[in-house]
Amino acid sequence: DRMRYRLRAFGLDLPLSRPLPEISAALAATYPADASGIRIFCDQAEAIGRALDNPGGERERQLLGQAASTPARNYLKDLILTPAPRRVLGSIGTHEPYSGLTLLAAMWRLMTRDGIWLPAGGMGAIGDGLLAAARSAGAQVRLGVPVAAIRVKDGRAEGVTLESGEEIAAAAVVSNADYKTTFLRLIADENLSDEFFQAVFFARQTGSCLQVALGLDPAKVDLSAFDDCDRVIHRRLEPGPPPDWRALELDPVALAGEELELGLWSRPGADGPGAALVIRVPAEYNHFTRYRIVPYTRLPAYADYKEKLAAALIAEAETALPGLAAAVMVKDVATPLTFEERGGRSAGSIAGWSWDFESGSDPEPRELVRTPIAGLYLAGCQAFSGLFLGGVPTAALSGIRAAEYALAGAGPQTPTLPS
Ligand SMILES: Cc1cc2nc3c(=O)[nH]c(=O)nc-3n(C[C@H](O)[C@H](O)[C@H](O)COP(=O)(O)OP(=O)(O)OC[C@H]3O[C@@H](n4cnc5c(N)ncnc54)[C@H](O)[C@@H]3O)c2cc1C
Repeated sequence: DRMRYRLRAFGLDLPLSRPLPEISAALAATYPADASGIRIFCDQAEAIGRALDNPGGERERQLLGQAASTPARNYLKDLILTPAPRRVLGSIGTHEPYSGLTLLAAMWRLMTRDGIWLPAGGMGAIGDGLLAAARSAGAQVRLGVPVAAIRVKDGRAEGVTLESGEEIAAAAVVSNADYKTTFLRLIADENLSDEFFQAVFFARQTGSCLQVALGLDPAKVDLSAFDDCDRVIHRRLEPGPPPDWRALELDPVALAGEELELGLWSRPGADGPGAALVIRVPAEYNHFTRYRIVPYTRLPAYADYKEKLAAALIAEAETALPGLAAAVMVKDVATPLTFEERGGRSAGSIAGWSWDFESGSDPEPRELVRTPIAGLYLAGCQAFSGLFLGGVPTAALSGIRAAEYALAGAGPQTPTLPS
């Protein structure tokens, strides 16, 4: 199913999963003083999108080269003077533009033309399908068995050691853990050059989030905001001061004034009598680390703190979904620590390498599947320098590449990582 997005912020109620010219026309009508800048941006984004589809020609290459070296922030600042349309077009949301122009155009193409899709049977269906295919081809799959180390001898991967201490010898190792986990945690640093170790250490990743997953009694909540969409990008009209991530505790109301994603993950009737809602807000990893002294444990204050933050997010979401708080039957709150420990993502990062312009912007994402260690290949969304197909499809493609390299016995290569 295609996920349909809507933006409800700045007093706008704008469907986003529509052709870009429609979005351009709606914004131009609302902000006539910026109408020409809005049209120019949307035309340019479409031209970059077409060049990404067919990058072969001289003109396309030139356009992509220029776009890759242009921060969206710089491009938009003189083009669209009113903050609301500049932020909407510059971030597909409510933030000031932060990425390069190519990535922004690619994300608009995804949102407005190609679509963001949920696989039939839900996200788990992809893993289940791969598992069944691997087993029927004779693979032995062991789940819930963490790898403690990748063993390297004379610059070559020779197997893994499990947390139980069991050793498995292998002609090739494909790591689906991210770059930082693989090279900073699983491989002893004497196997890496100082230069490569530092490149991995300092490379920036996308941020993390706080997520409230709710099971709802649909009789008690008005879900009509989702009548013609599945995801709402929501921000209150007067957000107030931003949360202070360096404070010991955040002001929950300030956190709820940030951009929220409200997602209806199951509708009553389709998957059963209940409804499932997920509320997400960007959250900083370092703010939460003080609640963990020993891995997989939390200090007692953590649970209360999460509850306080979740209550403020639910209260804010209730302005769009009347009756929400009283409809909650089940609640689960995840922080960046949860995404790190349960999801195996370093610092709880959601979508791989940083999307900020300053972190590097390639006209064509570079492949980072081969590594400086012979026989070790990386699979996953960080195995390319950018998410050119979206997170999950990019990760899937990297798995195919890693398998091809492993079968061919491709030699080591030190990739240039995003900075
Ligand atoms: C809240 C959220 C929303 C997202 N929304 C979208 C979206 O709408 N569209 C999209 O395309 N992407 C989205 N993403 C990103 C998407 O989840 C990732 O791009 C994708 O999962 C990356 O796949 P991967 O294989 O690289 O990593 P993962 O899916 O993280 O898989 C890595 C696996 O390695 C395992 N692992 C790690 N360390 C070890 C170890 N030591 N031993 C054994 N196993 C280990 C982990 O447990 C995990 O199963 C979202 C992510 C989050 C968190």
